[in-house]
Amino acid sequence: MTHKSGFVNIIGNPNVGKSTLMNALVGERISIITKKAQTTRHRIMGIVNGDDFQIVYSDTPGILKPSYKLQESMMRFVESALDDADVILYITDTYETPNKNQAFLDKLQNLGAPIILVINKVDLTTQEKVEELVKLWGEILPKAQILPVSALHGFNTDGLISMIKEILPEGPEYFSKETLTDKTMRFFASEIIREKILLHYQKEIPYSVEVEIEEYTEDKKLDRIRAIIYVSRESQKSIVIGHQGKMLKRVGTEARIDLEKFLGKKVFLEMYVKVDPDWRDNDNKLKRFGYMQ
Ligand code: GDP
Ligand code: MG
Repeated sequence: MTHKSGFVNIIGNPNVGKSTLMNALVGERISIITKKAQTTRHRIMGIVNGDDFQIVYSDTPGILKPSYKLQESMMRFVESALDDADVILYITDTYETPNKNQAFLDKLQNLGAPIILVINKVDLTTQEKVEELVKLWGEILPKAQILPVSALHGFNTDGLISMIKEILPEGPEYFSKETLTDKTMRFFASEIIREKILLHYQKEIPYSVEVEIEEYTEDKKLDRIRAIIYVSRESQKSIVIGHQGKMLKRVGTEARIDLEKFLGKKVFLEMYVKVDPDWRDNDNKLKRFGYMQ
């Protein structure tokens, strides 16, 4: 029996639905999703195993021009995903104009890995518009196979999986077949908390916040998690906490409910807010938070 395997790396501009697609392909809620750009800050692997195949998907941050060190690290995750891809899933949506970043698209074409261009969010437009986009993208990325999908509604995601399995090269298992991801439970806990913060706060808070799991104690029936929420300024701290702690309480309750679903057991979640003015530009802190080696 031949065994197929490889790194299938999901790349594209912010907000086109990369993380939604990743979760649909893996069938688990591995990546957090919000309407805000820069929700995904890491390269996150989601692994799908079969007897004769192993697909290692990678979700990545949206492509941007970095203005601080955290964003430089985010773009290094994208670069690494370009380097080791066996298959590139370049995601666009029905809003994005095809000529937005030609230099990047030229680079993609020259990489050598096969490209599947996924036009996501087709649920939001007409058949005619989709056909027009398929034609336009075909001219811009002639090497790519093109597939319209709706990651949110699961339209054509099975078709995409078949296409991926078809072009996946022969190869060994890179991870043991029980592995679902390269990330730890601590990582998912911090991401779930950050998702709730992104959902409930506006302006610069989503981009200034980091969540660190200070302590994680596993037990048969209950996991105890202590999280520190870092913000950049004193004023942001009081916004995050809210009047009489109400806002933070809401974040905590929602995060706990999601964590309990994810783990299938009870969770005791404690959260503290701390001010750290420069974490986004500090090498040591970026290392500590897992953004740098
Ligand atoms: P990312 O930044 O590329 O990872 O995008 P996300 O997966 O975080 O999604 C950004 C937003 O687009 C979220 O509000 C999603 O619910 C929404 N979205 C993703 N896929 C679809 C889709 O197929 N249809 C629609 N209507 N919305 C989608
Ligand atoms: Mg994302």
